[in-house]
Amino acid sequence: MDQPDDRFSASDVVDFMTCPRKLLLNRDSRHAVIERPARDELAEFVTQQGLDHEQRVREKLAATHPDLTSISGTSAQERVAETLAAMRQGISAIDQGDLWAPPWTGRPDFLVRVDEGESQFGPYHYQPIDAKLATRPRGEAVAQLTFYALLLDQVQGVTPPRIHIALGTGSTESLATDDFSAYVQTAQDRLLAWVAPGPAADAVYPEPVPACRHCDWRPTCDDVRRRDDHVAFVGGAGLAEVAKLRAANVATMAELAALAEDRTAGRTVEGMSRPALQRWARQARLQVRQREDGTAHHEVLPDADRGFRNLPDPTPGTSSCRSRKTRGLPKGPGRTCGDGCPAAMAARSGTTDGRTILRRNGKAFNWSWT
Ligand code: SF4
Repeated sequence: MDQPDDRFSASDVVDFMTCPRKLLLNRDSRHAVIERPARDELAEFVTQQGLDHEQRVREKLAATHPDLTSISGTSAQERVAETLAAMRQGISAIDQGDLWAPPWTGRPDFLVRVDEGESQFGPYHYQPIDAKLATRPRGEAVAQLTFYALLLDQVQGVTPPRIHIALGTGSTESLATDDFSAYVQTAQDRLLAWVAPGPAADAVYPEPVPACRHCDWRPTCDDVRRRDDHVAFVGGAGLAEVAKLRAANVATMAELAALAEDRTAGRTVEGMSRPALQRWARQARLQVRQREDGTAHHEVLPDADRGFRNLPDPTPGTSSCRSRKTRGLPKGPGRTCGDGCPAAMAARSGTTDGRTILRRNGKAFNWSWT
């Protein structure tokens, strides 16, 4: 990213709000202090899908705004000057315009002219549109667009009252800027105060957050967590469980596993029932044992009426199976579901008979296994 450290983009603000460590890792990779991990195929695929969606939005916009202008300058200065010239000229839609009001810089996907009010360019102003593949507005996208709106306020002398998200569904969601501007402005002020002393990336521990899911830095942060035996690696533990355990000073997988040996010690974790804590502790113990002796261990759950054991008695005949239907397999008596069906796996492991009924969402589906 061609971005000096005295300017901050919408992504920087969103990163600061969702994971400040990411902001610092991005800064360090710009300075070649650390290398950005290679992106995996899924990340590349999602990026390409996003670009394809943006192109569809561009084509749609071009149909209604024949003078749609794409900003093509190669340097940041050229692009900012080009964008300003297009705005002064009153171009009805601007593609990839660069906005700059120190220390903030932004590149909304599109700027559309709205012939209302007065801006410093005349009896019109510009409003930002971003193309997002999501089916509903997400917090990050709203914050990003609000950032552009605040930037536009400085560039054109008036805050656009609306921001727009062109969703993956083909519809466009318009939101009132005022509903979000105070929040984003506060985040911007905090970001400037926070980065001023030049914090090191290591100063922010990679606690798992929702943003980790699609973050390029995940391999780097996972290395740190693995080194520390982070409790996040306990199989099936979600962010909520991890946060509760860490808040109760159960920071590592080994510490959690130790609780499985000590059921009467009275250790509690706020917001987690004792049976749930024991369940996670037993899972952690299995993983710790595997780590120690290299053997995959399992435990038979003590409750007799849990999981597939809770299925009703088999019934004759097979009609349909929701699991099979959703996987595009043919329906009908005697057809084999194939691998991957939880009921099939249960049957093959000997937990149930070959024919059973899978209850899901309160409905019963006959299922046949041969
Ligand atoms: S992987 Fe998670 S903790 Fe690490 S930088 Fe990304 S969002 Fe932050």
